[in-house]
Amino acid sequence: MQVAVDGPAGSGKSTVCKRVAIDNNLMYLDTGAMYRSVAYLSLKFDRDKLLDILESVEFIFSDNGSKLSLKSYEEVEDVTDIIRSSEITAIVSTVSSDELIRKILTVKQQIIASSNDIIMEGRDITTVVLPNADVKIFLTASVEERAKRRYAEVQGVTDKSYDEILADIIKRDDVDSNRDIAPLVKSDDSHALDTTALTLDEVIFEIGKLIVEKRG
Ligand code: C5P
Repeated sequence: MQVAVDGPAGSGKSTVCKRVAIDNNLMYLDTGAMYRSVAYLSLKFDRDKLLDILESVEFIFSDNGSKLSLKSYEEVEDVTDIIRSSEITAIVSTVSSDELIRKILTVKQQIIASSNDIIMEGRDITTVVLPNADVKIFLTASVEERAKRRYAEVQGVTDKSYDEILADIIKRDDVDSNRDIAPLVKSDDSHALDTTALTLDEVIFEIGKLIVEKRG
């Protein structure tokens, strides 16, 4: 069973997918965390070196996909917190526009999906990574609602105002949706789910229904 979920920043993908994974016995894969990790590595290595080592970097997820460590050159580093910093958030969309980086990560994601029942979330999962997934969902919400949720989430972690978070989200949406390679778009065969006025439980119920229908 492959469940592919795409959607813009703050649409609730991670929270929803983690719960759906547990309820339906699926592995959860957050591909945004992989792109954030590459953005983190781009601060340490120039592009050539980065491309050189990326093939062999292992992405080790634990805690039902909530934690992530990177293994390179036999060294393991827990990047769970650092990849959520505002420094990484500010550069991740630019790093993710790189065609060669996308190729390497796409193959890694497809390999993981080939041997696991999985729910995978990101920006190009329904269109590029798993175009033949059993269930395909495009999750969205109004930009104001997404900024409101993100603002509540990061209280105590960053001192950014609601307006700053709203501006960040608008900018990231723009880059992610307008890049040449694997832009964020809703594919014709994805189920659109606008979560603006739905509770978390309602969204989880809707996706669960689609999975049960598919499983028969
Ligand atoms: O999901 P999250 O907001 O953590 O993703 C961070 C960034 O990673 C996105 O804004 C996007 O630029 C990039 N990304 C991507 N393709 C994916 C997942 C994330 O380009 N499949």
